[in-house]
Amino acid sequence: MKRRTFLTTLGAASASSVIVAAEPPPTLRSVSTDVLVIGGGTAGTIAAIQAGRLGARTILVESGSQLGGTTTTGGVDFPGLFHAWGKQVIAGIGWELVVEAVKLNSGDLPDFTKPTGRQHWRHQVRLCGNLYAALAEEACVKAGVQLRYYESPLSVTAVPEGWRVRLGGKGTSVDVVTKQLVDCTGNASVVGLAGLERLREKTRQPGTLIYRLGGYDLPSIDMNALQAKLVAARKSGALKPTDINGSIAGFLGKGGESGNHIPGADSSTSETHSATNILGRQSLLRVVRFLKEEPAFALMNIERLQTETGIRETFRIIGETQITHEDYTSGRVFADAVAHSFYPIDLHYEGGVTPKHLTEGIVPTIPLRALIPKASKNLLVAGRCLSSDQLANSALRVQASCMAMGQAAGATAALAAQTGTTPLQVPVAHIRRELARHGAIVPAAV
Ligand SMILES: Cc1cc2nc3c(=O)[nH]c(=O)nc-3n(C[C@H](O)[C@H](O)[C@H](O)COP(=O)(O)OP(=O)(O)OC[C@H]3O[C@@H](n4cnc5c(N)ncnc54)[C@H](O)[C@@H]3O)c2cc1C
Repeated sequence: MKRRTFLTTLGAASASSVIVAAEPPPTLRSVSTDVLVIGGGTAGTIAAIQAGRLGARTILVESGSQLGGTTTTGGVDFPGLFHAWGKQVIAGIGWELVVEAVKLNSGDLPDFTKPTGRQHWRHQVRLCGNLYAALAEEACVKAGVQLRYYESPLSVTAVPEGWRVRLGGKGTSVDVVTKQLVDCTGNASVVGLAGLERLREKTRQPGTLIYRLGGYDLPSIDMNALQAKLVAARKSGALKPTDINGSIAGFLGKGGESGNHIPGADSSTSETHSATNILGRQSLLRVVRFLKEEPAFALMNIERLQTETGIRETFRIIGETQITHEDYTSGRVFADAVAHSFYPIDLHYEGGVTPKHLTEGIVPTIPLRALIPKASKNLLVAGRCLSSDQLANSALRVQASCMAMGQAAGATAALAAQTGTTPLQVPVAHIRRELARHGAIVPAAV
């Protein structure tokens, strides 16, 4: 563009700008719905789609900018486990989205007929997280779910109709009166706001900032010399012991992916979540600067870097029943089982993790009452904050299980809203029937 034309255009632009009056505070509006799901992550997205597909008026509130939570924004874009001992034990809406995300991105599913032995991760499904988020969003819209990004609940009050939840966001303030409320925040935040007790361990699992490094040639690196430098850097404090878990060879072999721990990681408040994300990025910068001092890493680049530190554990609910380690490892089939779960006991500590595999043939189940806060009405949870002890939770928290319980919670909430009852009063046979009709695999009744 010629200089004169450019200046003329600029002049026209400023002439057309207008001074806008100071923004008034958002006016409080009131809306009513059948099912309100808070938290559009791994479990919440599926809960909302299921409720919508059952014809319930459904609103899904997500404080971030996309759906999927830890699966997408947290970068754990390798959900599992849908298969156990050679057969599929979890399907339904989550599986439908996972398969579509893989196919649309020209990827392949693992061969589930091949046993994995102790390498359970070989049956996890690699996908593109942001594509999964787009597909989940499309499925919500198709199911008639109203999506509300960038909002969070400020208060939760019991009312005769069910609950009144005040939501706050950018320039918005809305009171939602809902018949049924589903807490899928991962932190049982809604349960906390409703004034119900929650559980938190004194020592919680660390988080992990997921990133991947590339641009170096593994065979040409003198691993012994680099390992000695790593030990020295840990000693001098240039690196924290948790910045690089285990040996440098193991870390670099995976491009550093999932190779760090962020102790004290906590997403339960904006303040703790901000601090956790900062700690994650500080850890990454220490590692990159450490490696960049070596000539072998002169061309090293960051191939992927998530915007949030992944969180493994914060609060859990105290439910109508609690799934114990014994329940999980014995494969107890609960009378009110609504989904399966399958994963090794996978408790991370600062120094690493040693998964404990289930005995061959065991497939644990998830009872409805572990999704219902004790003595509550019109309230469910789904996701990692379900009622369970810490060891059982270290396996129950994985994505396929979260998706399955999300679908069960969504179906129960929709049925309770339709029949004017509370989740505990909805006949389990009815829930199982609807879940099966929507593609889920439901544990056989006992
Ligand atoms: C590093 C790491 C590695 C893992 N590895 C595996 C693995 O190999 N395989 C596997 O299957 N699983 C793995 N997991 C576990 C699994 O990914 C998570 O436990 C699971 O995704 C949690 O699902 P969720 O629905 O409970 O929570 P999330 O997916 O975290 O969803 C919670 C959602 O709620 C939103 N939210 C929170 N608070 C509010 C609020 N107040 N208002 C509105 N929205 C809110 C969040 O933004 C988020 O979108 C891993 C987890 C981590 C952190």
